[in-house]
Amino acid sequence: MRLHRTLPATLAALALAGAVPATFSQLASGQSTATRDLDSRLQQLVSAVSESRLGELVNTLAAFGTRNTLSSTTSPERGIGAARQWIFEELQRSSPRLQVSFDTYKVAKGARITRDVELRNVLAVLPGRSPRRIYLTAHYDTVNIGGTGQIGSNTRPSGQTAAADPQLRADQDYNVDAPGANDNGSGTALTMELARVLATSGVEFDATIVFALWAGEEQGLVGSRIHAQRLARNKTVVEANINNDIVGNSHGGGGETDAGSVRVYSEGPEDSPSRALARYISRVASLYVPSHRIRLMARPDRFSRGSDHSSFNDYGFPAIAFRESRENFAKQHSALDTVDGVDVAYLAQNARVNIVSLASLALAPPAPVVTNERGQARIGRQPSGYDANLQWQASPGASAYRIYWRDAWTNDWAESRLVGDQTQVSLPGLSIDDHVFGVAAVGADGNESLVSAYVERRARRPEVKLR
Ligand SMILES: [Zn+2]
Repeated sequence: MRLHRTLPATLAALALAGAVPATFSQLASGQSTATRDLDSRLQQLVSAVSESRLGELVNTLAAFGTRNTLSSTTSPERGIGAARQWIFEELQRSSPRLQVSFDTYKVAKGARITRDVELRNVLAVLPGRSPRRIYLTAHYDTVNIGGTGQIGSNTRPSGQTAAADPQLRADQDYNVDAPGANDNGSGTALTMELARVLATSGVEFDATIVFALWAGEEQGLVGSRIHAQRLARNKTVVEANINNDIVGNSHGGGGETDAGSVRVYSEGPEDSPSRALARYISRVASLYVPSHRIRLMARPDRFSRGSDHSSFNDYGFPAIAFRESRENFAKQHSALDTVDGVDVAYLAQNARVNIVSLASLALAPPAPVVTNERGQARIGRQPSGYDANLQWQASPGASAYRIYWRDAWTNDWAESRLVGDQTQVSLPGLSIDDHVFGVAAVGADGNESLVSAYVERRARRPEVKLR
């Protein structure tokens, strides 16, 4: 991400006052750097997203009739077996650079998984220069809960919400129509299209990008949970999970139409890595896809609804979910989730926001580590006792760093300054008690990492013993 702002008034006033420590000169030197152009590679990636291919992918996915995790695996044209095989082959056809595989698990009967089942996620890896991973994900499975689908659940009187889970009914037929064009053919198509565009772009990324299509989401995020659990166990570095679930409808069931914005849900607290990812997407998208508005939502997901990004959150990985702005619950989780409910032009806009966020992050160096070995933020008031002194670890590949700050009672960065290839800076007279600070690593091409925030770790004091 490239973002340039002028010197804040407080620092400019200090500069004029004359009492300027050396660190301030370093800051001021950043000001002479002219605003650079946008990265042409990112602009090309945005324009390479194919609306017509997105439409074709959604059509093909819906044509499997159902992709329920417990549906047929033997029919060559209907059910999850045929669908996952086609996704696998389509990813392989997209580019020889994609390492495509099934991520297969034998899941035991339990809860909504009403019999032992072989569950297959489909993965496509685009290797980068470094092993650090960024995940772009969507679930490809579908469900038809019977009755009137999701709107039935939404409109059930509150006192009756404990009604039996429709997926636990004994008489379920897993092969009934569950086309899932929007939930989640939209996110699946988006992920597959971005795999094609990024793998065929000729752009070399620093991060390794993993495109993952999950199964078992509708039974409780099963496929993504097993995978995230393994990543944590193997201590794999996952810098971000960008998840898309229900991102193709622009005509809300409540009567409102909105094809000009998309929601991004992220788990708190306010300076969590997931929130840093959400803010990053908002800033990059505003530069490269200014025609689409990002609506940041400071909560893990919609009320009592969930998706696979939460599996990544559960294991400590930064993760967000894209959600269309206006949902039509009457089509979800029923036979009515058909292709006519997907606005492909809107889905393409969401794909453009995704691709530029993902590519910018994958081109940039990793975010700086701002904590010491004990996990404490390396921030102090030196040298005067009233300054903001920030220290961080050098990020591999960084050629500069950008400092961000904001008033402590606000939720997005207000000021920023580019500093050189250094690992500490003092901001004279800026109170670390009244502001939140963060630092991002900047690559030689100007692309920026996520912002690492300086967050105080509160240790709980021991109980006072009474007698
Ligand atoms: Zn979904």
